[in-house]
Amino acid sequence: MKFAVLASSSAGNSTYVESNGTAVLIDAGTNAKCIGAALRAIGADPAALAGICLTHDHTDHTSAVAVLEHRYRTPLYATDGTIDVVCCGCANDEGADWPWVSFAPGSSFEIGALRFEAFPVPHDAGDPVGFAVTDGRARLGFATDLGTVPEVVRHHLRDCDALAIEFNHDPLMLERSDRPRSLVQRIRGRSGHLSNEQGAELLAAVAGPRLRHVLPMHLSGECNRPDLAVAAARDALRGAGLDPDLVREPAYPSPLYEI
Ligand SMILES: [Zn+2]
Ligand SMILES: [Zn+2]
Repeated sequence: MKFAVLASSSAGNSTYVESNGTAVLIDAGTNAKCIGAALRAIGADPAALAGICLTHDHTDHTSAVAVLEHRYRTPLYATDGTIDVVCCGCANDEGADWPWVSFAPGSSFEIGALRFEAFPVPHDAGDPVGFAVTDGRARLGFATDLGTVPEVVRHHLRDCDALAIEFNHDPLMLERSDRPRSLVQRIRGRSGHLSNEQGAELLAAVAGPRLRHVLPMHLSGECNRPDLAVAAARDALRGAGLDPDLVREPAYPSPLYEI
């Protein structure tokens, strides 16, 4: 399996995954131009995607969907809660005609050579999910946009070869930011986003001997710094008796990693 994070921040999210000729995106935030350029830079063809799997309906994960659907009619995999909200936000009801494939949080589905295990995450969206993606050999754990970490999340992220985990904010930077109080509370809340400490705690709980890549994800541009997120992730791996250098720099588009 190969994967690359094309974009990951509060401004836009999209990750490419491929195995045995099947290529998919997890989320399609930013815009179609950015995603197309990032795909071509790693030798992938946006027209050849077998699916776009949406974690949830927020625009930093869906803003490129309309243009991509207009161009390529790529099958869209999402929960009913996500489909409802994305379709409601579409101009002229165009979303109703897109090739949706609905799945339940807590279910699994296959796209070509890839199997997706969808698990529910606590986040303020309609039926949001994280994914564990397998191809029968390698396993990629993917969890961004969650305020707390229930056991179901840890369960799906164990025994992974690569982990993409949210390290959204530094609590002190968030507290000192000039963001409205209500937004600060939303981000810190049980259905908000994981701090560096929470991301590190999750990483320490699930990291195992198969792990080869750790990607700190969804860093806030205003309320975090890459060096803080990376340091927290490295400390977590050290504490778990693993190599801290498995943590990859959050710079995008990332290289194409192989597991
Ligand atoms: Zn997000
Ligand atoms: Zn979100």
